[in-house]
Amino acid sequence: MRFSNLAVILLPMIPASLGFTMVPKFQSPTIQSPSISTSTSTSMFSSTSNTPITINPIVSKVKISKTVEIFSLVKQMQADGVEDITSLCVGEPDFPPPQAVLTAAAEAIQACDTRYTAVTGTADLREAIAEDLKTRKGIEYDATTEILVGNGAKQCVYQGIFATCGPGDTVIVPAPYWPSYPEMVALSGASCKILETKEDDGYLITPEALRECLESCKDTAKLLIFCNPSNPTGGVHELSRLKELANVLEDYPNVAILADEIYERLTYNDNGHDSFAAVSENMFQRTMTINGFSKAYAMTGMRLGYLAAPKHLAKAATTIQSQLTSCAGSVSQAAGVAALKNVPESEMEANVEIMREKRDYVISRLEKMDGVTLAVPPTGAFYVLPDFSTYYDGDDGALCLDLLKEQKLALVPGSAFGADGTIRISYATSLEELEVAMNKLETFLESKK
Ligand code: PMP
Repeated sequence: MRFSNLAVILLPMIPASLGFTMVPKFQSPTIQSPSISTSTSTSMFSSTSNTPITINPIVSKVKISKTVEIFSLVKQMQADGVEDITSLCVGEPDFPPPQAVLTAAAEAIQACDTRYTAVTGTADLREAIAEDLKTRKGIEYDATTEILVGNGAKQCVYQGIFATCGPGDTVIVPAPYWPSYPEMVALSGASCKILETKEDDGYLITPEALRECLESCKDTAKLLIFCNPSNPTGGVHELSRLKELANVLEDYPNVAILADEIYERLTYNDNGHDSFAAVSENMFQRTMTINGFSKAYAMTGMRLGYLAAPKHLAKAATTIQSQLTSCAGSVSQAAGVAALKNVPESEMEANVEIMREKRDYVISRLEKMDGVTLAVPPTGAFYVLPDFSTYYDGDDGALCLDLLKEQKLALVPGSAFGADGTIRISYATSLEELEVAMNKLETFLESKK
């Protein structure tokens, strides 16, 4: 496909926030008068926005994920025959799930393990999760009442927010943030208070900044969202910093913590990862721990995650889930048990080593690019968030679009994460693909000097 054709696809999909005007998406109705058609055609109606059915104003305000949007754009380009697209925009490991997981899923299907489970998940999986959290993280949850298995960590994050926050409440969201957090807060009716972090601090939260932020909204602050390791920065808050943050939170007893630890298996420093709930008894009582199987076990499409929290918090989240989806998929849950019980630790460690090699490669290439900075190399997850603000006057959206058009390289603009002028690069792909991507990026930047 040529780029003139590509523009026809690109334009309606590019959000206005990237600096483009949306072209109207809806076609006018072709049916003039109501009649019962005898036509055998399946496309007799075309949709129109011109109806009295309006959208819930809360939903109208919520933005669709820009990562998903760019990923859709890439898929569309591929479907239209554009070749050689390199996409580093999605947060998905490139390795397959462990064999033990695949075997367990296949066996569950053969055994007709395809029924609704308890809302909170199968007892086997909840017990495996409780055991895993106890042995690896040092936090003890009651498998019957304090663990809720959901359809992915994303659903669990939303349920955690909705269980604790509503209109009038403030949720503290450190930036750069995973884009779903502010939108989920908006869906709950609460307001966001963005806690800015600095590139020079490796985008970690400092106790001073946390206190200042809490003070600024102390009458309404209800929840702190804490993503550790972080998507999109790859930053890891180590135990000493967790303790400092906990000390500050001691002074604000009404604030709960949603600790999104979905990347906890992927850390590249010697100290590994500590759970926020493990820091102290007080923090344990106030923390909802989120984790899942998408990143560590590459089970993204199996949609499996969990929330672990003291009883009353887990119960509230369970009530929401009982009315939304009932339970996570039974086959995925059987696979989840195998992930926690049957995957050798050596296999997990091997994946971390491979990821570390990819991280090192990407950092070494970025370091050589003119005008690109990465003040503190990331030590977790599989993202880097370098600063490109010397290009395009800091317009990261325009840069990413030109990069996609000119070099067919898809990256996500940092503005989607509340980090203007930066770009998020996901390095969870093959080293060969990373080399192609870094060559494309280098060529592109050289052409803009
Ligand atoms: N939290 C963070 C920070 C994430 O990056 C993601 C996935 N991109 C999720 C939660 C959701 O993961 P899932 O729903 O696939 O378990």
